[in-house]
Amino acid sequence: MKPRPSFPARLAPLESTGPAGARRAAATSGAHAHPGRTSGAVGASLPTRMATSAVQERDYAAVRRDMVQRLTRSGIADATVLSAMGSIERHRFVDSALHAQAYQETSLPIGLGQTISKPGVVARMIELLRQGASGRLGRVLEIGTGCGYQAAVLSLVATEVYSVERLRGLHERARENLRTMRLPNVHLLFGDGMVGYAKGAPYAGIIAAAGGGDVPVAWTEQLAVGGRLVAPVAGLRGAGQAIVVIERTRQGLEQTLHEAVHFVPLKSGVA
Ligand code: SAH
Repeated sequence: MKPRPSFPARLAPLESTGPAGARRAAATSGAHAHPGRTSGAVGASLPTRMATSAVQERDYAAVRRDMVQRLTRSGIADATVLSAMGSIERHRFVDSALHAQAYQETSLPIGLGQTISKPGVVARMIELLRQGASGRLGRVLEIGTGCGYQAAVLSLVATEVYSVERLRGLHERARENLRTMRLPNVHLLFGDGMVGYAKGAPYAGIIAAAGGGDVPVAWTEQLAVGGRLVAPVAGLRGAGQAIVVIERTRQGLEQTLHEAVHFVPLKSGVA
């Protein structure tokens, strides 16, 4: 019988970047590899692949726990956010060649020139979105689905998640990534998120994963009284981006500025 590949065998492809490395990584990641790439596993017996996959899943659970501990040390205190970050398998949202980096404090490419935010930024923005909430948030709108990771995290902290993406390729990738996760409260929409999504309004929370100059008026209009909007905005602190939180109160909109961030640009139209 073929010897069972050891754990470093899966990590190795990271050093050898490129399609061959990606294929090797996919070949050892069993049932969780991207569809169409699993043919590389020909030659490994089924039990071998299943055993390897089980080892990897256990291992990812351990690095995910480390990530949550790091988030706690960095100041994330909302137990609901930490639990959601600990539950969603971030590695499944990135290319198999990037699996070993999935839980590091780094943004990662997700295709079409876009990136998935660092775990710390995802956690921080969702914590800001929830501030003051007891239990789950109500309906939440996300602008910029990307690979679908943040939408999956949001699905565990909100009752319904509407997530809009303007790039068809990424909208479809997110659909594929989320398909097996059974998150019935996530609604993926293809369109221009600059206009929000009026059908789901009013929202308890709106979160943008792309940054522009001003916050589109449609977003604040679609916010419920007591609802909060969290978005990266440019030009408020020097030339860079910073997180802005806008809360709709009975008296009107209240805005607070938070730390500097670096997000991909918010663009209009679809592609
Ligand atoms: N939350 C995402 C991060 C994606 S990066 C994740 O977890 O992967 C930001 C995304 O915003 C990109 O996919 C980009 O295409 C998208 N985007 C930019 N402008 C947009 C707009 N007007 N409407 C919808 N999506 C937009």
